[in-house]
Formats: sequence, structure tokens, C-alpha cells
Amino acid sequence: MISLPQFPDARRLTNSQIGTFRTCQRKEFYGYVLGVRPQYAGSALRFGTNVHHGIEMRAIGHSAEEAVLAAMKQYDNPPGNMRHDEALMEREIVGVMLTAYFWYWERPDSVPHALYVAENIAAEEQFELKIKGSRYVYAGKIDGIVRLGDGRTAIRETKTSSDDITPTGDYVRRLLIDNQISGYIVAARKHRQIDTVLYDIIKKPTMKPYKATPVEKRKYTKDGTLYANLRDRDETPEEFGVRLMADITENPADYYQRYEIPRLDHDLEAWEKEMRDAAKQIQVARKQGYMARNTNCCLDGYRCQYLDVCHSGIVVGGDVPPGFRQTTCAHEELS
Ligand code: SF4
Repeated sequence: MISLPQFPDARRLTNSQIGTFRTCQRKEFYGYVLGVRPQYAGSALRFGTNVHHGIEMRAIGHSAEEAVLAAMKQYDNPPGNMRHDEALMEREIVGVMLTAYFWYWERPDSVPHALYVAENIAAEEQFELKIKGSRYVYAGKIDGIVRLGDGRTAIRETKTSSDDITPTGDYVRRLLIDNQISGYIVAARKHRQIDTVLYDIIKKPTMKPYKATPVEKRKYTKDGTLYANLRDRDETPEEFGVRLMADITENPADYYQRYEIPRLDHDLEAWEKEMRDAAKQIQVARKQGYMARNTNCCLDGYRCQYLDVCHSGIVVGGDVPPGFRQTTCAHEELS
């Protein structure tokens, strides 16, 4: 049964929680107040988490090979919504993406100094920042603090994305106003000097493994062999991995981009003001006990994970709907 939980970390607000609240108050209520979440992470989140794991392992001092293997090991016990063959293929893709990532970015003679990580100072650094005028703290985890090749200290934020990550794409344009970057600079500067932000993006491959040609569409030559452009079996993970690695090494900038994202003092002041406003709005919503639905967002970009149950399926004191689970804290990603 769901009762209204009093999570021990309820006074923390994270960037994604605030973003969710701004998108749809009801969605934020389900996920962060009731703690009702989908049983399994979506494929994009799972892929990103496992890639992150490999990069974190490297940042804390493991060899590139150990870091790649650690990330691939995450697929030893795939989640219940993932078939064994899917897990093997994704495991291979994660392994190839990380192997090529370390190769591409760890070349001091080829990578521009301002984008080269000369030293990992800290990894997965957690912070809390009091939000003035509210009972909340802004909380999060910075992927890394690094020393760049030109000697400056930077926040490293690594993301995986399916979007266009090239310099003229909207993904990069949005980074100029990204809330998370501003918040992380303000938080990190409470403890150390931060000169800039190194935004590190890994593009998820769009290449797909070849599938076997359906039997009814197969054609054979006179000597009984299959036409060269047809297949009698699916491509194996290893074969796909070789093809993917060849494409990455030929076009690495399609897969890996790093940007230095500037922030001026007035950007950070604006962020602090926006944060205070968001905290106030959340405080008011909690007091009123009513979290409004924003149905414009149910299908905006992607299908909301609560769409099947939003009408009546999640109520205080009701059962956890099938396909969901109840968390024991608001922010599982933070310790
Ligand atoms: S289904 Fe729509 S209204 Fe309901 S939580 Fe999701 S976005 Fe909000």
C-alpha cells in the first residue's frame, strides 16, 4: 500500500526533480513524493548509466581496459525487461564506445589542450547547497573535477545522447542556458576554484546490427549460394562491434564531442534566483496538497511513463500499479 512517505532526503531538490516539477507537477509528485517509479530503467538511461560507470572507473584510476570490462560486466545480470540477446548486443556496443572514447580523448598530442583531461581531481562528487528563503537544499553529483591540458580546473559533465551533438546542433545551443551547468558551477565553487565546464558528449550509435533476410525473400545464385546482399543469419555482437569500431575510428567526431561552456556572473545570479522561485513553488504545492497535471507534456517528446496509470492508478494509500515499484528515498542516485 502507498502511504505518503516522508523520505529522509525529502528536503533535497535535484536538477532533474526541479525540471520534472516544471514539466508536470503531478509527475514530480508520483516520482519524488510518492516514490513510485517504473520497475525498470528505460534503455537510454540504462545505456547512459553503464557508459558512465566505465568513465567513472577510469577517472578513479583504473586502466582503460579495466574500465571497459567493468562497464560490460553490468550486463552479466540484465534487467527483467531485457532479452539475453539484447543484453549481449548492448554490452558489445558499450564496450566498443568506451574503448574508442578512451582512445580518442587520451591522445595529448592530438586533443586541444582546452579539451584534454590531464588529471582527474575528483569523480562523482556529491554536493548540497542551501536554497535561500526555503527549507530545501539543491543537491546533485558532479561527474568529475578535472585539470585540463592548459592547467585550468574544470567541471566535467559527461552525457550520452541520441541528438545531433555537432557544434551547430540544438543540443549544443541549449547548453548555453542549461540550468544544471549553472547550478553545478555555483555548488562546486563553494569548495574550490572552478575555471570552466568541460561538457563531454557521447552520441549513441544509429547504426543497427544486420538482420537475417526473411526466408521468403532469400534468393540464391545458380550454384546455390545466397546473393551477396542477403543474409541467412543475424549479425553477431562481435561482428557488429567490429563494424561499429571501424565507423567510429573513421568518423570519431560523429560520436564524441567536447565543449567548453562559459558562464558569466550574471548567468549564475539568474540561476540562483530561478532556484529560489522553484523551491518556493514546490513548497506552496506541497502545502496545498495538490499537484497539477500538465497534459500538454504527456506525449511531448516521449510518452510519459505514468500515462497508463495517471488517470486513477496512483493515489495515496492505493496499490503500487503493475510495472512500477516503490522507492525508499526520493533520490536513489545520491547517497
Ligand atoms: S501522464 Fe501527463 S499528466 Fe500524468 S504525470 Fe505524466 S505528463 Fe503528467
